[in-house]
Amino acid sequence: MKLVMLGAPGAGKGTQAKMIADTYGIPHISTGDIFRANIKEGTELGTKVKTYMDQGLLVPDELVVDLVVDRVQKDDCKNGYVLDGFPRTIPQAESLDAALAKAGDKIDFAINVDVPDENIVERMSGRRACVSCGATYHIVSIPPKQEGICDRCGAKLILRDDDKPETVKKRLDVYHAQTQPLIDYYEKCGALKNVDGTVDMMQVFAQIQDILK
Ligand code: ADP
Ligand code: AMP
Repeated sequence: MKLVMLGAPGAGKGTQAKMIADTYGIPHISTGDIFRANIKEGTELGTKVKTYMDQGLLVPDELVVDLVVDRVQKDDCKNGYVLDGFPRTIPQAESLDAALAKAGDKIDFAINVDVPDENIVERMSGRRACVSCGATYHIVSIPPKQEGICDRCGAKLILRDDDKPETVKKRLDVYHAQTQPLIDYYEKCGALKNVDGTVDMMQVFAQIQDILK
């Protein structure tokens, strides 16, 4: 089962991708998480991507495509994977498809988590991410048991720099210009599945399970 999550920043892609990964026993591959880990570790890739991320811009395709193509060829991806935050441009999708086609493979479903822009700023200003394990919460809809502390690992929760309202606006503009066209792209190849992302996270997940069964 090879899956791609589509949707605006803050639509709930990561939340759903983690549940899919846990339920179906496949890896959750988040390019945003990979970049944040590189920034934290101070790698060369981390230094390159940070300036783009801080401005709410996409990282250039050449810094992300090979990384994902290599990752999906690892052994743990044999039974499938869920890609979260990739592809984000048509050239990224084309490169992924071309790499998969070489092995006679393809993406089974592109799940589009549909949430209108009006809800996004609220979602992202309330998002809190664990500095250690990357788990995400929402201060109102999905709060941690203890304020500011990760339920999973006990580390501190923070507001991501790029979740501040001024950057969120830019990220939404970038989404509409560069990423939204992927909805048509996956519709044309018959892989697109839309889910209503405005409902409770378990109800979103139920829609996804209906698609995957
Ligand atoms: P994305 O990966 O698409 O950027 P996230 O999964 O991190 O988005 O979700 C963005 C924010 O919205 C997080 O704070 C998350 O806890 C919250 N969230 C996710 N799904 C829902 C939902 N169905 N209803 C309300 N809040 C949600
Ligand atoms: P995310 O955690 O998915 O919201 O991603 C955070 C940021 O990482 C984005 O705003 C981009 O700057 C960068 N990023 C993540 N994935 C990609 C990608 N596939 N292509 C380009 N930039 C990306």
